[in-house]
Amino acid sequence: MTLTLSNELLNATKIREDFPILNEVINGKPLVYFDNAATTQKPRSVITALSGYYEHTNANIHRGIHHLAEKATAEFEATRKSIQTFMNARLMEEIIFTYGTTDGINLIAQTYGRSFLKKGDEILISTMEHHSNIVPWQMLCEEKGCVLRIIPINDAGEILMDSYDNMLTERTKLVSVVHVSNTLGTVNPVEEITRKAHAVGAKVLIDGAQATLHLDLDMQALDCDFYVFSMHKLLGPTGMGILYGKKELLDAMPPYRGGGEMIKEVTFEKTTYNELPYKFEAGTPNIADVVASKAAVDYVQAIGKSNIAAYENQLLDYATDALQSIQGLKVVGTAANKISVISFLMEGIHHQDIGVLLDQQGIAVRTGHHCTQPLMQRFGIPGTTRASFAVYNTIDEVDRLVQGLYKVKKMLG
Ligand code: PMP
Repeated sequence: MTLTLSNELLNATKIREDFPILNEVINGKPLVYFDNAATTQKPRSVITALSGYYEHTNANIHRGIHHLAEKATAEFEATRKSIQTFMNARLMEEIIFTYGTTDGINLIAQTYGRSFLKKGDEILISTMEHHSNIVPWQMLCEEKGCVLRIIPINDAGEILMDSYDNMLTERTKLVSVVHVSNTLGTVNPVEEITRKAHAVGAKVLIDGAQATLHLDLDMQALDCDFYVFSMHKLLGPTGMGILYGKKELLDAMPPYRGGGEMIKEVTFEKTTYNELPYKFEAGTPNIADVVASKAAVDYVQAIGKSNIAAYENQLLDYATDALQSIQGLKVVGTAANKISVISFLMEGIHHQDIGVLLDQQGIAVRTGHHCTQPLMQRFGIPGTTRASFAVYNTIDEVDRLVQGLYKVKKMLG
């Protein structure tokens, strides 16, 4: 059965036709793609935007005066405008193109962190962070003598807000937390986290890698100082990400990488830097992927985030009930506010074996620690099996996962 919303605003059968890869046959079975938290599949409009760019537009940007250079520049900057609207950022120059979430966090650690944080300053992150929101801060702390403090979570996988309140002091200079956990699906209360951090004068970075396809973004309402994400988790291309930052902070920060594009004037004695956003975009960027990213944003906006969220929540509820009917299966991550991800354990069966046996049935899930090893340590487990959903998944596919897991149980349980 294909789940169709009662108001029929979202028809997954029709949406699936836009994603050519969903026709693949894996090990003799139609592909069931439940690894969306790792990367999402791409609609045909994104694929044709990419090839169309190389067929009709390709030129280097910003420097040329010939027709193609101007066309490439216009398309490149059109993506910036569309991302500004998508995030409701105040200004277009607050949108910096990066290579992804990891790149964005490293940029902030290496520029804002190295310039404005000093010995004894505290950086707060949560227990459920992805390694890319842990390691850059550890590197910074090692260099500058800052202190990394970890906000604890409860057994459901929710941040303990009382503990957070107690950890916030005048020593707190930066709070960096994930919007939606890639392992648990927890949606963190980022508005409250931001407001409380600001009350003690700390800046706030939100890792939005898992949020952008599922939740509405409004930078002006959220009021965080930085927000980062990757386009490849938003139906867009790999190697392309977004760093949103408040203009006054980006202006005050030194550049990240030096080279072409990010300069105003270079002499051997002294170099002056370009204005925003180009100050942070050294060298030839990922032009084709930036251009194709607009097609991804257009696609998501045409369906509508609220329709996507409503549909995915139905899928998640159905899958949660269906999986929990399997004896010996335990869901890890039961936050009251969660989306699009189910991590689980099966008694007596290693997650890697589950992954291999599901793959044999054409079902793609992720197994392991999901780049959240400290979170695994918090739950006392080596890893989980994770099914993560996107707008093109269906109830039929969830049923196939459940049948697949019964087969795994029969073989190994
Ligand atoms: N943070 C979270 C929550 C993620 O899920 C991921 C990707 N798994 C990242 C950061 C890193 O993203 P990327 O590899 O695209 O830089």
